[in-house]
Amino acid sequence: MISDDDDRRPLTEGELEQFRQAEHKAADEFMRRRQPQTDAEERAVRELGEAIGYGRIMQAAEKLWRKSNEAQGTAGSELAVGPCAAALVPCPHCDVGLDEGESCAWCCGAGRVTRRVAKAIRDVGR
Ligand SMILES: [Zn+2]
Repeated sequence: MISDDDDRRPLTEGELEQFRQAEHKAADEFMRRRQPQTDAEERAVRELGEAIGYGRIMQAAEKLWRKSNEAQGTAGSELAVGPCAAALVPCPHCDVGLDEGESCAWCCGAGRVTRRVAKAIRDVGR
């Protein structure tokens, strides 16, 4: 147990492990208690997706989220919907190898880009 007197000392391996186990147990309990809500949310999305299309849900969510963010002064923090996965190709920039800890500026780590972006990456590399 850590007292107030020694709260600046590094944790021991045993204390770290104890903390990790407690954190893991709390996360598991949170997910277990939340599961009914998760199931209900997914049923609602499935029902709407089957009715109007899952892509339409994502487009509408992006549009509405963007409007909400603009109203709150946080424009650009919404997720963007990309093209269909089948229309993407492996990111050439990721394929040439990134430095340790570097994330790909072209695909943001997704590892896939459109054919047009792949061509642009290759053209820039020349
Ligand atoms: Zn990439």
